Amino acid sequence: MTEYIEYDLLIVGSGIAGLRAAIESAKQNDTLRIAVISKVQVMRSHSVSAEGGTAAVLFENEGDNMESHIYDTIKGSDFLADQDVAEKLCLEIPKEIYQLEHWGMPWSRRKDGKIAQRNFGGYSYPGATYASDKVGFFEMQTLYDTCLKFDNIEFFNEWYVTSIIHDDKKFLGVTAIEISTGAFYTIKGTALIIASGGAGRMYSYSTYALSSTPDGLDMAYRAGMALKDMEFVQFHPTGILPSGILITEGARGEGGYLLNNNGERFMKQYAAEKMELAPRDIVSRAIMTEITHNRGFIHETGVQCMQLDLRHIGDDILKEKLGAIREISFKFSNIDPAKEPLYIRPVCHYMMGGIHTNIDGATELQGVWAAGEAACNSIHGANRLGANSTSECMVWGKITANMAVNYIANAQSESQFPHHLVDAEEKRIYDGIFRGGGKMNPYEIREKLTGILNDKAYVYRKESELIDGLKKIRELRNTSWRRVDDHAQEYNTNFINVMELDSMFRVAEVILLGATYRKESRGSHARIDYPHRDDNNFLHHTLVYYDINDPIMKKHPVTITKYKPVERKY
Ligand SMILES: Cc1cc2nc3c(=O)[nH]c(=O)nc-3n(C[C@H](O)[C@H](O)[C@H](O)COP(=O)(O)OP(=O)(O)OC[C@H]3O[C@@H](n4cnc5c(N)ncnc54)[C@H](O)[C@@H]3O)c2cc1C
Repeated sequence: MTEYIEYDLLIVGSGIAGLRAAIESAKQNDTLRIAVISKVQVMRSHSVSAEGGTAAVLFENEGDNMESHIYDTIKGSDFLADQDVAEKLCLEIPKEIYQLEHWGMPWSRRKDGKIAQRNFGGYSYPGATYASDKVGFFEMQTLYDTCLKFDNIEFFNEWYVTSIIHDDKKFLGVTAIEISTGAFYTIKGTALIIASGGAGRMYSYSTYALSSTPDGLDMAYRAGMALKDMEFVQFHPTGILPSGILITEGARGEGGYLLNNNGERFMKQYAAEKMELAPRDIVSRAIMTEITHNRGFIHETGVQCMQLDLRHIGDDILKEKLGAIREISFKFSNIDPAKEPLYIRPVCHYMMGGIHTNIDGATELQGVWAAGEAACNSIHGANRLGANSTSECMVWGKITANMAVNYIANAQSESQFPHHLVDAEEKRIYDGIFRGGGKMNPYEIREKLTGILNDKAYVYRKESELIDGLKKIRELRNTSWRRVDDHAQEYNTNFINVMELDSMFRVAEVILLGATYRKESRGSHARIDYPHRDDNNFLHHTLVYYDINDPIMKKHPVTITKYKPVERKY
């Protein structure tokens, strides 16, 4: 049986986007009742792991300029970014950097006392604003602390949202499980902001937090909203072996080299000017090409890889600016980066795709907005530049909050609530999953699913492999895996894991479908069988809608304001 509670604004997710949205809405209206719902404790949200920086133009008088941040973002996206959205990001983010500072953010400083910035891949000017190499942790701490100043923000930590309730026209509430008790709730609301983050745990080799599964994307998809551009998955060039933990691009921003087994800085063959600081798609492809031509290393685990050399940076700078990287190298690879190169390989790191929104973060369902990595407002197109995601979270956390507050102020009260939909949801999750009689071990199935995506839709892709991947995912989905061995009510992580797996199946299918359909190479989507970008046929976004039989695919135009697509050279 469900219990009912009610708020004005629901925010699913307590990462940077969710917290920024909560503060803005609380600031706009102190009588608004705001619920921030998160399946993990606030400070365990994935955003705490952001390392290297938040992109912003702060010092136009010193050589940086707005135009170059906008153009770098659009060029980095391989011209699939909506150009008005890129412009909005770049114009808005400097204010957010100073706003964070006023809320207590301990930005690193230059010698002259001004906020420090470092170089990142694909930028014309060092614009990644940083706090050592723990930018996400400090941003989260600052935002959380600020949230606590408002009495009208209430946190529901360790609550797992299962579905969106709506009447086909507009949003009415969500259903959720309180993980600590196992109780099933319906949280009614007038507006919803989905800030449920990315879903990179669908890949077996990943930099993401274990909680980064596609539940938020899937609940929007099942509620009739399109998922957009899901074929564009970013592989960060430097995941440290064997764990895949991220070595921030800031390490190359501070001067790190990438070396092949001849000791060569091989990036000179692929991006003569930018070298190691070319955009991530280009560097990841270069690494995989070197490996294919036997110029890689074999790690002790048997995995092929390259070296990242930080020795010449020196221990003092490593300690001061890359302290977390130093610690990760020691603890997870047993390597002192001041003495030995690190072994790295491209690793799943970001999803350019997400819930289809317009420039203001509005989805196709009235009363629902999406912000942060869960959203696809098309700022990153086919390839995100590093440091542009935390920027996006801040800017669209604020924008969507303003939109939602406005909407709530003008909303009509609802007379009928569709209780039958809540009953159907209860049946779906308790009869279909909790009491399911699956024969297979769902953890093994999850490992297989993530392995399939890693094998079939990695840095380089081709038709036969993508189709095979799709077939394998569908076969796996049809096996009998809906099984929860733990029947406890309280803290049943076994149940939550199987719920996550359920959403992974639907979203994995969308990634593979989009990648099969896009017969060109653009940004992070590199097809061996279609090695060139094809603007005549594919300069558009991919939309995928849920259908009980088969997903429905559509096209959506790219907004081009003044930057004509040209060949990318770095
Ligand atoms: C290792 C690493 C380093 C990075 N470094 C940088 C960097 O330096 N600069 C940069 O710009 N970007 C960086 N990124 C990317 C950036 O960190 C993320 O894109 C960004 O933090 C995402 O924030 P978010 O608020 O959208 O979501 P997240 O921080 O992922 O939060 C998602 C929230 O949704 C909640 N949630 C999800 N599903 C449910 C559910 N079913 N029910 C209830 N709650 C749910 C979670 O509990 C969580 O609170 C990095 C990424 C990684 C992996």
